[in-house]
Amino acid sequence: MRRKMVAGNWKMNGTRTSVAELIGSLRVEELPSDVDVVVLPSSIHLAQVLSDLQGGTIAVGAQDCSTEPGFGAFTGEESATQLRDLGCAWVLVGHSERRSLFAESDQVVCRKFSSAQVNGLKPILCVGETLEERQLGKTLDAVSQQLNSVLDVVGVDAFESAVVAYEPVWAIGSGLTATPGQAQEVHAAIRAVVAQRNPRIAGGLRILYGGSVKSENAVELFAQADVDGGLIGGASLKANEFGAICRAA
Ligand code: 13P
Repeated sequence: MRRKMVAGNWKMNGTRTSVAELIGSLRVEELPSDVDVVVLPSSIHLAQVLSDLQGGTIAVGAQDCSTEPGFGAFTGEESATQLRDLGCAWVLVGHSERRSLFAESDQVVCRKFSSAQVNGLKPILCVGETLEERQLGKTLDAVSQQLNSVLDVVGVDAFESAVVAYEPVWAIGSGLTATPGQAQEVHAAIRAVVAQRNPRIAGGLRILYGGSVKSENAVELFAQADVDGGLIGGASLKANEFGAICRAA
């Protein structure tokens, strides 16, 4: 039985004051003990959030990391080594906003995954098709390609502690959510791609759905056989809404 997980991707939002308020409200939300709850603040707020959540049950992760592990002359970058040292447990890699707005290729995503994984930071690998790919009937090809490009290099064993997030690009921040059936179809396909390499790892792999998840649609999405929780954007910025989504998992 896979443990459910709900992660809040705060994206480039918040000030020190609003982050303190959000954490304060999250700490008093009733969160289910059988769900892994994670928040992913901007990197400049990580230390604050880690300190404010110390001793609690909410884990903290980063939204991105450098392709380069360790230390070095890479101005503006943050390595998995540094994020792990700070206390982060998780990191997003290959979010569609990184792929489309910052031109991250599958190769770059793969190096980030690898850097995270070897430095003890658990990667949440994001995959998802564009609207055009869906309309052309290429959803499963696009998602499999993103997944296989990482699997080919890092090997399936690296997925033992990783999580995959399926986020259809057309559903992110658009208010359009994949139907539970559409999500389940892609989640099952993702699991099948991993199962071709190792059925046991595929069976234990958590696959999150992301894209306009709200408390109203979370129950039905999370009830699908291969949907193991969610990666939440906008709705994670409101503690009561995020709490309700966690309780739906
Ligand atoms: P929204 O929930 O705002 O659609 O964002 C989803 C997302 O990109 C989470 O990583």
